Order: sequence, then structure tokens, then C-alpha cells
Amino acid sequence: MESCLFCRIAKRELPSKVAYEDDEVFAFHDIAPQAPVHVLICPRKHISTLNDVTAEDGALIAHMFSVAQKIAAQSGVDQKGYRTVFNVNAEAGQTVFHLHLHVIGGRRLSWP
Ligand code: 5GP
Ligand code: ZN
Repeated sequence: MESCLFCRIAKRELPSKVAYEDDEVFAFHDIAPQAPVHVLICPRKHISTLNDVTAEDGALIAHMFSVAQKIAAQSGVDQKGYRTVFNVNAEAGQTVFHLHLHVIGGRRLSWP
């Protein structure tokens, strides 16, 4: 997906403030943070939405949550509290159609 914003960020064709990376995922700080901690964890593989995840992606999705644990711990919010979110399609507010797990914390969060 040559034109995909998050594919380009993961390939470092576009700048970002990197939080974590490995062979499977790329995590970076959100450009418009909704809280003191707001990191996006993306698979390097292009997947548009959670609806496109298949059973073959099971290990990848589990890995994304393990990276979320690391980021929460590194950011010092793991014990106080944080939220992980996949927005899926328009009504949930998804604006970038490359799967990304939001890790949000560092303040009291309202619901939803
Ligand atoms: P969504 O609404 O699709 O769940 O989340 C997309 C997120 O990506 C938003 O929170 C938005 O601020 C963030 N975002 C959009 N463009 C960029 C960008 O170019 N760089 C970074 N770091 N974040 C971005
Ligand atoms: Zn992509």
C-alpha cells in the first residue's frame, strides 16, 4: 500500500516520534494526542480495519497487545490505568485505514 499513511510512517518514509519497533509492529506517538500518553501500534503488514483481521493474524494481534503492555509500563501508566482502542470504520471515528491500536493514558478517561 504505497499511498497508505501508516505504511509510509512504518517504512520511515514519513517522520514520526517512534515509541517501539520490531519486525512485526511499529509504534509511534499520535500527532494529536488525546491524553499525555497516546501511542499508536500498527502492524507492518497493511490491514485496513479490524474487520479484515483473520485467524492467521491471531499471533500478530496478541503481539500488538503485548507491545501495548510494554508501552504502558514504559510510560508509567500501567498501574494507574490506560485504555487500548481499535476504532473500526466511520461511525467509530476511524480516519486512517491501516489497523492501529491506540494506547491512551496519563489522565482520568471518560467513557466512551
Ligand atoms: P483513528 O481515528 O483512525 O482511530 O486514529 C487515527 C489517529 O492517527 C488519530 O488519533 C490521529 O491523530 C493520528 N494521526 C493521523 N495522521 C497522523 C500522522 O501523520 N502522524 C501521527 N503520528 N499520527 C497521525
Ligand atoms: Zn498501510
